[in-house]
Amino acid sequence: MRKRQIPGAVRVVVAGAGFGGLTAIDRLAGRSLDVTLVDRNSYSTFQPLLYQVATAGLTSADVAYPLWTAARKAGAHFRKGDVTGIDPGRRELRLADGATLGYDYLILATGVSAAFYGVPGAAEHSFSLYTRRDATVLRDRVMAALEQRSVHSDDQRLDITIVGGGATGVELAGTLAELRNIALPAAFPEIDRTRMQVALIEQGPALLGPFTPKLRDYARAELLARGVDVRLDTAIKEVQDGQVLLADGDVLPSDITAWAAGVCAPAWVAGLGLTTGPGGRLVTGPDLRVTGQDAIFAVGDIAVIDGQPLPQLAAPAIQAGRHAADQILHLLAGQQTTPMRYRDKGIMATIGHRSAVVELPSRIRVRGTMAWLAWLALHLVTLLGNRNRISALVNLSWRYLTWSRGGGVIVGDDPPG
Ligand SMILES: Cc1cc2nc3c(=O)[nH]c(=O)nc-3n(C[C@H](O)[C@H](O)[C@H](O)COP(=O)(O)OP(=O)(O)OC[C@H]3O[C@@H](n4cnc5c(N)ncnc54)[C@H](O)[C@@H]3O)c2cc1C
Repeated sequence: MRKRQIPGAVRVVVAGAGFGGLTAIDRLAGRSLDVTLVDRNSYSTFQPLLYQVATAGLTSADVAYPLWTAARKAGAHFRKGDVTGIDPGRRELRLADGATLGYDYLILATGVSAAFYGVPGAAEHSFSLYTRRDATVLRDRVMAALEQRSVHSDDQRLDITIVGGGATGVELAGTLAELRNIALPAAFPEIDRTRMQVALIEQGPALLGPFTPKLRDYARAELLARGVDVRLDTAIKEVQDGQVLLADGDVLPSDITAWAAGVCAPAWVAGLGLTTGPGGRLVTGPDLRVTGQDAIFAVGDIAVIDGQPLPQLAAPAIQAGRHAADQILHLLAGQQTTPMRYRDKGIMATIGHRSAVVELPSRIRVRGTMAWLAWLALHLVTLLGNRNRISALVNLSWRYLTWSRGGGVIVGDDPPG
């Protein structure tokens, strides 16, 4: 259902329907504004649970929320479209299908994408985990490789390498190792599980960099206990089809290489003609307006506040989306804008079943089962849509209660080609 246009109303366009963009349209709801939400997909993706989709624990529908529903609830229009350009002089947003959208205020919240840092072969021969499609492609590769080895059960190995020891890499490595240790003997009894190897490669001296040393050590110990080959201080020289070349000269066989080593702004952002900074991200002032622009805000992962960079996480994106919307309301009321004040809500990461780390700003640190339950509860609560919450709860419960008996593995599809 489309909202009826309000003649003469101030037009606000919000580009990108992740945590930042969705919070912004909610904040602008009920304000007699003409708000349009634009996204290249017709759904919003809950990225924190993508690794569960990639490891066959959740379906891709569990982490997607329809944008026409989100827009309707906020009294906004939804326009599916791929942003390709902006004309700040004419106050127009350009879309890939040739359409333009006029705005009085624009909030850019289009997120980032995988950064390969110029490592040869990384973009061509590894799987990233940033979109819903990425997650299903990776799942299908893993499942197809297992199915193939269950038929030709001779002595074929399955080597999976994960590059990047941040939260995504740790979660992926831990869950793949559990898949091998717990689900494989029941789901694929023909496969000798000792022939499946999961390696996690981190360039820095520790996993989970932003956490305190004790929690980092705990995460590493938990991964080692699950049989993950954790390599710290190890840089990647090249990714090839079937192997990963390390800077120390070692060569790792790798049937599947997953890239979780970092993010940057996608290439099209450089063509917007706006001020960019580290990682090609849009530089904003403290009120979140892009440097040199009076009507364009940038929030979330795509933005970097000059002199006050925030972590690329959901909480800063949510707070920034809210703040940008408030600044538009201030400007419309003839008031000054105000600087954003970030409230740190803490960080968490999970390693596997009943194993997680939580660090709160109040110096509270939790690990193990309690941390895992807190992680689970938070993710289920913040997942958009009651249907998704229920289906994710059912699928995750099913995974962890039944996977030693062959359950908890959602079948994939044959990868194309
Ligand atoms: C695998 C993974 C796990 C994560 N786990 C956690 C976690 O546990 N906790 C946490 O706090 N954070 C986590 N994060 C980070 C968190 O998801 C991001 O910080 C957050 O999503 C950023 O929100 P955003 O609104 O800036 O952008 P996004 O959520 O990335 O949303 C951007 C939106 O813009 C759309 N878009 C992109 N380009 C265009 C275009 N050209 N035209 C139109 N639309 C476009 C996209 O389709 C998308 O809907 C994780 C991220 C990943 C990838």
